Order: sequence, then structure tokens, then C-alpha cells
Amino acid sequence: MNLQEFLNAARAFGKAEWEAIVEGVENDMTLIDETLYSLARESEAKPPVIKRALVEHHPEVARYRRKIETYEGYPKDDILTLSRAMRPDVVKLMELRNMVAQNLGYIDYKDLECELSRIHEETIKDRLQEIVEKDSGEAEALIEKHSMSWESWFQDLRKMTALEETLQPQDIVENVAETFGFDKLPNVVNIHQNEQGIAGFARKFSDSDIRIAGRIIDNASDLKTFLHELSHAILYAYNTPENLEDFLLPAKDEFLANLLENILVKYVCTQTQRRLIQKVNLLEKIRMSLSALFELDLWNKVKTPEERFTYHYERLMPVEHPEYWALDSFRSIDPLFMQYYPLGLLAGENMLVIIDQEGLEGKELGAWLREHLINRAAHVEMAAFL
Ligand SMILES: [Zn+2]
Repeated sequence: MNLQEFLNAARAFGKAEWEAIVEGVENDMTLIDETLYSLARESEAKPPVIKRALVEHHPEVARYRRKIETYEGYPKDDILTLSRAMRPDVVKLMELRNMVAQNLGYIDYKDLECELSRIHEETIKDRLQEIVEKDSGEAEALIEKHSMSWESWFQDLRKMTALEETLQPQDIVENVAETFGFDKLPNVVNIHQNEQGIAGFARKFSDSDIRIAGRIIDNASDLKTFLHELSHAILYAYNTPENLEDFLLPAKDEFLANLLENILVKYVCTQTQRRLIQKVNLLEKIRMSLSALFELDLWNKVKTPEERFTYHYERLMPVEHPEYWALDSFRSIDPLFMQYYPLGLLAGENMLVIIDQEGLEGKELGAWLREHLINRAAHVEMAAFL
């Protein structure tokens, strides 16, 4: 298999995803799925990126994934109706992923995912439990103070962290580039903003064209999201695979973006912005930990998702409609993925302690981050930071 062909197909896939999600273009992704799948099958070497492609672009997995992703053919009267209608397909998709993983010699899909990410399920669960136990008291107080609910969660986060002025994303990019010496960023990053659209999204079209989509930045939640997407852009700007082992898998990409995001917040945000982002992080870290614990549990007990959903989420506040599990965060599109957000944030906190001990800052810190983390992103061991 030709590496350049695989890279081109992977980029075409990312570009088509961008067009569908950000621009609302109705792309038929079938052909790209087929290309990636047949290239992966042809490959004699089976590094993580190939194994993942054999699952995600498997014709049946891809068909169900697409259907769920685009809500194709489901009644969309309200999200409860939508969740109920999607449920059988979400279960079917889980079964398909398990089946393909088993054909590749794994116990199930979770076994494959943990091996590709080189991190044990028990380590993941222990860290997530610690996050929930450590922060839930403070989170409950915030939830009560701001009358938050699961249904209005993201609007609540925006409302409670409103900023006095609207920030310009280009200024933030300049600031990050200047602070850390990431000189090429302003030249390669293209920003698409919209009022009500997608919260955040980043894709690499080419070495000189990295796209970020996001909302207007007038609250700390959207500021945090922008810094998160910019962290993805930094990873993409300084990483071009030279062999199959160099491909950055989504799990690692997400983990490192969360880690870097925490570092950007410390060095480019004002004190007020930092304080508000800390609030968002506290609440989001718990929500995402509960979501990930539910997700990991779900793959053990596919038959009782509603019961498991309530069990995990009720640790923070009541769940009115357990049927929403079928729509939970990333579970239908990119399952077993949620843990890399809270774990990445935790790794960022640990990394800031090291940075402090080493007395690093400014461009020196930027160079250090590039050498230890950014330039060799695909080869970083996540477990080493936890
Ligand atoms: Zn991300």
C-alpha cells in the first residue's frame, strides 16, 4: 500500500466531514470509506491507524455510522422521539464494531480500542472515578447556584461565564503564536465563525490550510472551545506523517488537544477568563467523566443502556429521560472516545506542575512543548501523563 495514497484518502475524508458538518454539504462519503477500507486491507503492516480504519471504514460499520451521524430517516419531532428511533441502530452499530474487532482477533471493540491507545481500562476508570469523587461537591454547588439541568447544560455554561467583550479569534491566534513562538500558526490557520453553528471543529486540509470552526467568543465556554480547537490546529501544523506509525489517532489527538488547551489557558488568558474557564472545566470534567464511565460500562452490558445511563448520570443530578443515552455525546459516532477529554485535561494540570518545576515559560516553553509533545504527538504515551 502506498502511504501517500492513504494520507490523501484520510485528508479527503476529513475534508468531506468538514463540508458536511460546517458547510452543510450533503456529501456521499461511501466512496472515501471504500477507498480507506481497501487500502487498509491491502496493507501488510497493521499499525494502529490501519486497524482503526479496518473497523471504522468497514462497509457495514460505515453505513450505520453514517445513518446515525446524519439522522437520516429518523423522525426528528423532538430529541426524545429521535433517541427512541435511533436506539436499535445504535445497538446494531455497537454489535458490528464488536464483530469486526473480534475478526481482527480481539475480545471485543473495547479491547481493541484500549490496545490501540496503549492504556488499560482499569487505569482509565480509576482516574475518571477520582475526578468525579474529587470535584462533585463543588460541581453540585455550581449546578444548584445556576439552576443547571442536563437538557440546558451547554447554554447554562455559556450564560454563567459571559465575558464583558467579544474576543476576536485572529487576535487569539496571534497571541498564542507570539507567546510560544509557534510562528507558522497565523499563516496556516483559517477560521470560520458563526452565531449558532457548531461549537468547535478542526480539520487539516493540507500543510498550509488548517481549518477551525467555532462560535462567536463572548463567553468563557466558547473561549475554552476555541483554545481547544486551536490546540488541534497546533498539532496538525507541526505533524505530517512520514510513515503509517506517525498517524495521529483521534483518541491521542483529543487527549493532547485537551492537555495543550490547559497550557494555552494559563499563558494567554486574563485572570478573569482563567477563573471562568476553571468553572467550565470543573463541570465539564465531571460530565465527560460520567459519560465515559457510562460508555465503558455500556460495552460490557449492551442490553441495559437506560439503566446504566441513569446509574452514572444520577451521581450529579436527576435524569428525566434515560432514553437520551442513544444521543449521548460521542457515543454513536466515535464510541469509547469520551475519556480522552477529561483525561487530557487532567494530564494538562499535571504537565503545568512539571512546567513550573522546570521554570519554563514563553518561547522556551514553546520549544520544549514542540520537542516533547507536539512534534512527536503520535508517539507520546498517554499513560505517562496520568
Ligand atoms: Zn477536540
